[in-house]
Amino acid sequence: MKKDGHIHTPFCPHGSTDAFEQYIEKAISEEFHIITFTEHAPLPISFVDPTPQQNSGMDRQLLDAYFLELQKLKQYYAKKVMINIGLEVDYIVGFEKETKEFLDAYGPLLDDAILSVHFLKFNDMYRCIDFSPEEYLQCVQQVGGVENLYRLYYETVHLSINSDLGQYKPKRIGHPTLVHKFQHVHGEQINDKEEIRHLLLHMKEMNYELDANSAGIRKQYCLEPYPPLSMIRFAEEIGLNVVFGSDAHTVEDLHKHYYQLF
Ligand code: ZN
Ligand code: FE
Repeated sequence: MKKDGHIHTPFCPHGSTDAFEQYIEKAISEEFHIITFTEHAPLPISFVDPTPQQNSGMDRQLLDAYFLELQKLKQYYAKKVMINIGLEVDYIVGFEKETKEFLDAYGPLLDDAILSVHFLKFNDMYRCIDFSPEEYLQCVQQVGGVENLYRLYYETVHLSINSDLGQYKPKRIGHPTLVHKFQHVHGEQINDKEEIRHLLLHMKEMNYELDANSAGIRKQYCLEPYPPLSMIRFAEEIGLNVVFGSDAHTVEDLHKHYYQLF
């Protein structure tokens, strides 16, 4: 079964306006059986998005339109491809209650979803680690080095796995090594294989799936999937469910590098 379980949409405020139909037609022509659209869920109302344009999550006002449009497309294409209605939900330390309330309200409309860490909390602030090299390096400096930032990222992913977000909590953990995104900017050799293995074992133990995410391969300072290939193989060895995700924000990137990961 070919599945792409991580796809953004025209509802993404930092993505492209490529139409749903273009994504779907490409999925059909490349013989994917299942696709999940996972737009960035609206961030919690009381959370201040630390990115300059504050456009990390979709507009809350558009949620109903998002679900309505996907419900129509799901029906229309049902014989050709299975379309899952999903969201990529942020795990943000300290916002568990609001996130749970959001999931309690919209979870019944979801077929599939991803829980991801993009924001880290330190020094009483929230920072987005995948926004830009400059921002990333500032984070490194503020936490006292690359290794500390990696550690903080993995700790936060562990917290996301343990968090109580209610019965509609997503089943899949998004790009668990996103903190590698700027590895060729900091240029340090960090051996975090043991920490990644530990994280994957934790996912397995708690019955989560892994988003094997090819977006990192396309990022000029990362050049590897999230998690790295050897870790995807490890995940398979331990029987963790591995779900490919192109994390496409454009039709051009849809399904990219699928055959490099499997
Ligand atoms: Zn995005
Ligand atoms: Fe993400």
